[in-house]
Amino acid sequence: MPTVNRPSRSAEATFRSSARLKELMAAHFTGVDRAAREKSAPVAWCTSVGPVELLRALGYQVFFPENHGALLGASRVAGEVMGRAHALGYSPDICSYLTSDIGAYLARKSPLTRYGLSGAPRPDLLLYSTNQCREVRDWFEFYGREWNLPVVGVTSFRDLGEVEDSHVEAITRQLEGLIPALEAVAGRRLDAPALEQAVERSRTCSDLWRDCLNSSASRPAPLSFFDATIQMGPAVVLRGTAEACDYYRLLKAELSERVTAGAGAPHRERFRLYWDGMPIWGRLRDLSTLFASLGTSVVASTYCNSWVFDALDPRDPLRSMARASLELFIARAEGPKQRYLERMAHEFSVDGLVFHDARTCPNNSNVRFGLAQRLRRASHVPVLVLDGDLNDLRCFSDEQARTNIEAFVEQLEGAVPATAGGGHG
Ligand code: SF4
Repeated sequence: MPTVNRPSRSAEATFRSSARLKELMAAHFTGVDRAAREKSAPVAWCTSVGPVELLRALGYQVFFPENHGALLGASRVAGEVMGRAHALGYSPDICSYLTSDIGAYLARKSPLTRYGLSGAPRPDLLLYSTNQCREVRDWFEFYGREWNLPVVGVTSFRDLGEVEDSHVEAITRQLEGLIPALEAVAGRRLDAPALEQAVERSRTCSDLWRDCLNSSASRPAPLSFFDATIQMGPAVVLRGTAEACDYYRLLKAELSERVTAGAGAPHRERFRLYWDGMPIWGRLRDLSTLFASLGTSVVASTYCNSWVFDALDPRDPLRSMARASLELFIARAEGPKQRYLERMAHEFSVDGLVFHDARTCPNNSNVRFGLAQRLRRASHVPVLVLDGDLNDLRCFSDEQARTNIEAFVEQLEGAVPATAGGGHG
């Protein structure tokens, strides 16, 4: 999954809080790097929706390789380096975050140089959860072999209909089983109040981030999907810290002001769309500009909501972490996914849904088993499927995407009273 820190675009809103966002992201990268170089704190790599609270409670500095993957995509370094991983036997058809990141390591290239880092900071331990995909385990095991480091994690359930207590118990046991290995590397025992505090901060961050995203239920939407892919940085890399909570208090206040003032993106909002699937990192600016030129706002997404963890509860840290990890959209079966998308389409009053079918991420591509068609029949909301990829731009045709998006908006013009700016519910 994750996220990129980059300047605001003309098609996107400019946020006062962005200055603080840049400081926070820079401090995050340099802080983890310093800990790795000076051995001043244990360093772990963690998957983006993995059990980071355990690491925070044990004093780890935490790096998120998927965030590095997103940076490689947005900076388009990915295209230069993926071939190095392909040559090692990692197929071009598997996760292009994985191939970008391993390729970047092999090629000694990284957009983190802009923060003064030579590359991803070297960890003392790698911690994964397969709640999002199996790919992350393979990805981390590459580095475990390369650097002879411990790789530990949770092997999770996938495609869950209902999240049953038995599922939660099984994951809770696995989380408990991780603790000795995490303690051994950290050189200290897990302190119960520290874990409760980390879970409390993650929950607060999650609630504030959801409030920020939900502000775009207003018309016009003050935070577009494209803005949110930038603003989500702290929710991903600083989950479980006070800094992330403080940041989203700042952003939430700014968004509230915008809602009160009726201020949205700097273009007219004729139509409102929902985005399902991964961002196309190397084309964020182009797509943002294209949608804006068509008077269309992408107001909500599955992706940016992936860092909302409603189940987290500091009074029952491990069990609530287990439940939160299982309730994620990506870990669920088609039925819960459809119900979620119907609810989001209604709550955000969208006129259409865009599904990004990312070639190398089947886990975040939800059009391969008929979901888009079922959703269209059930909700009567028009649906567009865009072929592409998160990082591998060879899978994305600018021309075809433009033609399809323009045709889709024309279709909306015929289906929706333009003066109302859409809405179906
Ligand atoms: S396969 Fe998909 S979900 Fe897994 S790490 Fe890659 S992009 Fe993320």
